[in-house]
Amino acid sequence: MTSANLYIDEINFLKYLNKNGCIQCGFSSCEEFINAIIKGIKKPHDCPLISRNKAYAFEVIQKIKDLWPDVPLLMHPRPALTGLVELNTPDSGSLVLISGNNEFTEQILLTVLSTTVCPFFIIFVDTDGNTVDMAMVYQTLTAERVKKALQDTKIEAKVKRRELIIPGLSSSIKDGIEKLTGWNVRVGPKCAAELPLFMSEIWIPP
Ligand code: SF4
Repeated sequence: MTSANLYIDEINFLKYLNKNGCIQCGFSSCEEFINAIIKGIKKPHDCPLISRNKAYAFEVIQKIKDLWPDVPLLMHPRPALTGLVELNTPDSGSLVLISGNNEFTEQILLTVLSTTVCPFFIIFVDTDGNTVDMAMVYQTLTAERVKKALQDTKIEAKVKRRELIIPGLSSSIKDGIEKLTGWNVRVGPKCAAELPLFMSEIWIPP
């Protein structure tokens, strides 16, 4: 089976380091250090400037490929759960993530989120079962559908902050969602595996 591109090779690890070239890790640049991590020669915590959570986030990404399902390249829509999932007992201060209701998308996202005890609300918008990239092509992930999902899940009553994190591949609907719903939208990474680094301050190890 030919596998789909999950964009894991496009993660820019460098942007999550200080990039000050302090060489305390024994390498002449952060870039060299990242290459050493990828090759397994160094561990993230060998950089003394990386916090415990961020070092853990780097490690999660290194291992995530072994945990993910094999996603076929050519896939018909695979509708799965729509609506709200509450992970790790979220409260009114917890983050709200948005994604599509494709079976593989949901498996991948929940696999990544299971690597932290940080609480989240996740809303799986009805994208007719399309993955996020295909939903953008077929226009089944739209500002209108996000608005409907917010209303159907009654998430407004559960959180204080009006802020959503949407997948990086859906960045083009950010402004539309903000205009239609009044919620602030943060564009997350293209690859779900990058979420631990994107939110490394709160990515608390189990
Ligand atoms: S110690 Fe950390 S911040 Fe300094 S050069 Fe190495 S990787 Fe970069």
